[in-house]
Amino acid sequence: MELRLGAVVGSVDPDGLTLMSGTRIPADVVVTGVGVRPAVDWLKGSAVELDNGVVVDEHLRTSVPGVVAVGDCANWWSRRSGRRMRVEHWDNALGAPDTAAASLLGEDAVYDPVPYFWSEQFGRMVQFAGCRDGGRLILRGKPESDRKWAACWLTDDDRLAAVLTVDRPRDLVQGRRLIEAARRMDVARISDPAAPLRDCVLP
Ligand SMILES: Cc1cc2nc3c(=O)[nH]c(=O)nc-3n(C[C@H](O)[C@H](O)[C@H](O)COP(=O)(O)OP(=O)(O)OC[C@H]3O[C@@H](n4cnc5c(N)ncnc54)[C@H](O)[C@@H]3O)c2cc1C
Repeated sequence: MELRLGAVVGSVDPDGLTLMSGTRIPADVVVTGVGVRPAVDWLKGSAVELDNGVVVDEHLRTSVPGVVAVGDCANWWSRRSGRRMRVEHWDNALGAPDTAAASLLGEDAVYDPVPYFWSEQFGRMVQFAGCRDGGRLILRGKPESDRKWAACWLTDDDRLAAVLTVDRPRDLVQGRRLIEAARRMDVARISDPAAPLRDCVLP
C-alpha cells in the first residue's frame, strides 16, 4: 500500500484517477471516504462555547442559558464513557431532541445513549453499537466467507464495549442491551455464532 498524503484528486476517470499534479493512477474501483466537519463558524465570537462542535453538558445545554444543541454539531458530556462525545449518526440526531426539549422545559433529563448506527451496504444490513476504543476483538463467524457475521469488542475486564453486525440484527439488539447494562461476558462462548449473545454473559 502507498499513501499519498496531501495529494488532491483532479478527476475520476473511467479507468482511474488523475491527481491535480497531473499524475495518473490506474484503478478498477475508486472508494470515496467523505469526512465531516460541523459547520459552526457562524457561532465564532458568540457566547456559545465551541470545541470540535458546540460544547454542551449532559443535558445538552450550551454555555448560553436557554440554548441547547443536538445532532452532528453537538459535543456532549457522556456519563457512560466519562468523556465528551460528538457522534455523526442519524440515531443521535433522532434521539437527542427529546432530552434537549426536556432540558429547555427545566427537567433534569440526561442524554447518554450507547452510540448506534446502521447502513445498508451491497444488500447487507450493517449495524454498529457502542464505542470500540481499542477493545479486544472477537469474531462471531468468518467475515471472509460467511454472509452473516458479527464482531464484538471487549474491555479489559470482559465487558462488551461495541458490537458490529452484518445481517445479524439479533446480535445487535442483544449486544446493545449488554453494552448498556455493562455485563461481563463469557469470552469463550462469544466466538460461537450459534450461541445467542445474551446467553454469553457471566452469571
Ligand atoms: C454521505 C453520508 C452518508 C451517511 N450515512 C449514514 C448512515 O448510513 N447511517 C447513519 O446513521 N448516519 C449516516 N450519516 C450521518 C447522518 O446523515 C447525520 O448524522 C445526520 O444527518 C445529522 O443530522 P443533523 O440534523 O445533526 O445535521 P444535518 O442533517 O447535517 O442538518 C443540519 C442542517 O443545518 C443546516 N445549516 C448549517 N448551517 C446553517 C446555518 N448557519 N443556518 C441555517 N442552517 C444551517 C444545513 O444546511 C443542514 O440542513 C451520513 C452522512 C453523510 C454525509
